[in-house]
Amino acid sequence: MSSDKDISEVPLLNLKAQYSNIQEEIQSAINEVIESQYFIMGPEVSSFEEQIADYCNVSYAVSCDSGSDALLLSLMALDIGRGDVVITTPYTFFATAGAIAHLGATPVFLDILPDSYNLDPEQVGKFLNDHHPLNKKLNIQAKNVKAIIPVHLYGQPADMGPIMELAQQNDIAVIEDAAQAIGAEYKNRRAGSIGDFGCFSFFPSKNLGGYGDGGLITTNDADMAEKLAKLRLHGAKPKYHHSIVGINSRLDALQAAVLKVKFQYLDEWSQKRREKALFYNQLFKEADLAIHTDQLNYLYRQKSGQQSAEKNAKIVLPKEIQGGPSRGGRHIYHQYIIRTDFRSEIMEALEAHHIGYSVYYPVPLHEQECFAHLGYEAGDCPIAHHASKTTLALPVYPELSDQEQRYIVNTIQKTISRIIHQEI
Ligand SMILES: *Cc1c(COP(=O)(O)O)cnc(C)c1O
Repeated sequence: MSSDKDISEVPLLNLKAQYSNIQEEIQSAINEVIESQYFIMGPEVSSFEEQIADYCNVSYAVSCDSGSDALLLSLMALDIGRGDVVITTPYTFFATAGAIAHLGATPVFLDILPDSYNLDPEQVGKFLNDHHPLNKKLNIQAKNVKAIIPVHLYGQPADMGPIMELAQQNDIAVIEDAAQAIGAEYKNRRAGSIGDFGCFSFFPSKNLGGYGDGGLITTNDADMAEKLAKLRLHGAKPKYHHSIVGINSRLDALQAAVLKVKFQYLDEWSQKRREKALFYNQLFKEADLAIHTDQLNYLYRQKSGQQSAEKNAKIVLPKEIQGGPSRGGRHIYHQYIIRTDFRSEIMEALEAHHIGYSVYYPVPLHEQECFAHLGYEAGDCPIAHHASKTTLALPVYPELSDQEQRYIVNTIQKTISRIIHQEI
């Protein structure tokens, strides 16, 4: 068996390794597009859309230029703008809220659940009944809420059941931000097939990533699909006849060709990501470093505004809230996220060992400078605030080896035991 000494570096994501396995197929797909000289829309794009619609179990898929535009186009299709309010999570990539603000609507950030990092339906329920402290603090009435954007963060679906129920009771739309969750499942339903729209991103580092920007919107509504298809072409149909004002947001044929090649491997890759994640869990448990989220009372103390009394030397592992595939849930581990009170020390050690890591996300959206005028304080979403200080993404991808995972967990274990011994 080889030793840790053989490992010189473990990147956070290894797209070069992925490419070397599919190089010939990719190059011939790209060449075909170049030979055809058909770069905008066309057969590659429409056949890719059909594949994704089928995969996500929806009637329609409309591709566009990015995941960010998928969100923007969905909101535009709903005619959301000035005076409208859209509820979302503060713990997500900026694009989720950027799309709302860009249209002049007001994003409302409600806190997340501590174990899934996804929007807490109970918070949404309170806000929609005008019973949330933020209704008064922000001076926003429930009647102005036009949509909810839950995010399936890190590849795990948000708790869509209660969110859909609340949306139906209040006659508002649901846009799933499924940018990190292609192929994820909630109660046997695919991400992007539950709400009115599902928004996907093909940014290179996503589970299905192109060689540049790309995005797509899923829907079961024929009229909305038609409107989206128009909106991405400056609102024109037929060409040069503009019944509405849209934007220019198309998926390049070259991207569609690359994505069609990679799509064939998507399920295999997602399965491998799951295996890597479960292996990490096992290694952290074997190292006696794992703590179950239910034991994390310091989180709940944090929720009620008290400071955590002492730092915990154990690590919180990701939790599959809906259960695994045998129970109709499927987390596709776009990211493998641990939570630790010793994040900076662990980051330093990973850095020293040339192990990739990242923090998603260091500043929750309710604390971003560009949203300061909305009037939030950090403590308005305490769980998201706390997550932003403690979560850490470790390398997870199909090509990651067992030996590399052991190396990573060993490095973390040594760091934590060093800290504990210093403190005694
Ligand atoms: C990546 C991402 C987006 C934006 O996708 P782009 O294709 O980069 O514009 C939106 N929301 C979430 C949650 C994402 O992770």
